[in-house]
Amino acid sequence: MSKKDTFPFLEIHRALPREVPVPIRVLDYKEIHGDFANGDAGDQAARCIDCGNPYCSWGCPLHNRIPQWLKLVRDGRIEDAATLMHETNPLPEICGRICPQDRLCEGDCTLETGFDAVTIGAIERWTTDEALRRGWRPKLNAQPTGKRVAVVGAGPAGLAVADGLAHAGVQAEVFDRYEEIGGLLTFGIPPFKLDKAIVRTRREVLEGMGVRFRLNTEIGRDVAFSTLIKEYDAVFVGTGAYTFVDGKLPNQEAPGVLPALPFLIANARRAGAQVPRRPWTAESGRRILGLSQAANALPDIVGKRVVVLGGGDTAMDCVRTAIRMDADSVTCVYRRDEANMPGSRREVKYARDEGVQFLFNRQPLEIVTDANGVRGVRVVETALVNDGSGRAKPQVIAGSEQVLDADVVILAFGFRASPPDWCEEFGIARDASGKLIVGANGSLPLQTSHPKVFAGGDAVRGADLVVRAVYDGREAAKSILQKLGVARALFA
Ligand code: FAD
Ligand code: SF4
Repeated sequence: MSKKDTFPFLEIHRALPREVPVPIRVLDYKEIHGDFANGDAGDQAARCIDCGNPYCSWGCPLHNRIPQWLKLVRDGRIEDAATLMHETNPLPEICGRICPQDRLCEGDCTLETGFDAVTIGAIERWTTDEALRRGWRPKLNAQPTGKRVAVVGAGPAGLAVADGLAHAGVQAEVFDRYEEIGGLLTFGIPPFKLDKAIVRTRREVLEGMGVRFRLNTEIGRDVAFSTLIKEYDAVFVGTGAYTFVDGKLPNQEAPGVLPALPFLIANARRAGAQVPRRPWTAESGRRILGLSQAANALPDIVGKRVVVLGGGDTAMDCVRTAIRMDADSVTCVYRRDEANMPGSRREVKYARDEGVQFLFNRQPLEIVTDANGVRGVRVVETALVNDGSGRAKPQVIAGSEQVLDADVVILAFGFRASPPDWCEEFGIARDASGKLIVGANGSLPLQTSHPKVFAGGDAVRGADLVVRAVYDGREAAKSILQKLGVARALFA
């Protein structure tokens, strides 16, 4: 046996699918990675050394059985690998695309130190895409139970709970105020990270499993929450986190200052993606985001100087979108340093490759305006101070103020939980920041203080990650089945 057969990682280097060159990819909104060429996924999977203690699985919030499915991909058993992937993850092609793998599974891969991690995310994505292309679909073994569960919110948390219930013969009916499923997967994350056709394919898969979607239906407006409580055996709330973190900057209402999410959604509409029929009216924009600009979110930024304030994934999506909208310059301003940015390292690299400039250790103080609108942003330098509380805190350096020139400023400070109004009426407890409380006082995991109501995803965690919303949905389905006395069909 050759050394190559024993240690393929010595011969085969880590490789992602072909990346579209920067000058081409910034011309449109298509995903920036192509497919693995024939055999490449198998070769990449063969790099796994099956180290015996799969740190990658522990690094994955879903504890995916990564070494096992890598072996199947290596042996060309694509449909079997897809089946195994779906046992722990109902949205593998989506997580494979947008998980920050460097902080999760791949960051914990044994090969990461010295040899570069296995390309776990890209293999997960390619395998599921390929299996679905070949006609593979999840198999349902359970008989219908006659039980019905209402799911509020068709984001990743809601989709995961619906998947888990369908596998156990429980009818899931998913309500969403938007006209398409996906939540932020469709109405937030730009198409160059996640092609919207991928979400539509997943919708067909779920509908094929018997999941029903009732879209363009807002619970609390089109259908009363009390109806769900009366007519269904249980209810899952996965309504996300949409309260805009308000930096309260002077002049932030000026023309040319935009909140991040309406900017991304409006641009997705312009880019031809599926968008909500009634996305951000002046009223809903004010209610959800607290800013009056929400309805007019997309000015012409061709040739303009754009400054994005914030350092998370949303900010990265805004800067890369602004580049594709042909801004003259795009600068990301963040109050900590690069090492302390919350955004994925990978996204920061892509943004930099695409021409975004980063200005670290700058805290915005004020939007500077004149009679025509925005003229710049007044910022002050910061130094990071470790006060022993965990994350280093930015401290203002007196006398270091400057004005950055700008024609458009995008506010991407993040989101907080936005509990629906009806939570209070139905005694669904929230914490001081608005997050729904689950699993307290001996209740089941993901069960709220209302015995019939379960919750998960950003509504419970605050703004977080897709993979953790999926985890919550999967675990909530288990709890709902336990409450309804239905045997589980799929879960490990
Ligand atoms: P959501 O995806 O927000 O879905 C909630 C759904 O509930 C929405 O469709 C909403 O319309 C619906 N809803 C709310 N109230 C009602 C009601 N009363 N009636 C009916 N429907 C209702 N995470 C990553 O892992 N990787 C990334 O690259 C990444 N990028 C991001 C980029 C942006 C711009 C943003 C904003 C977030 C990003 N995230 C990313 C975070 C990720 O999108 C969220 O953590 C995830 O979508 C949360 O899932 P959820 O199901 O809890 O909520
Ligand atoms: Fe990695 Fe995300 Fe897939 Fe888990 S779900 S294996 S963290 S890409």
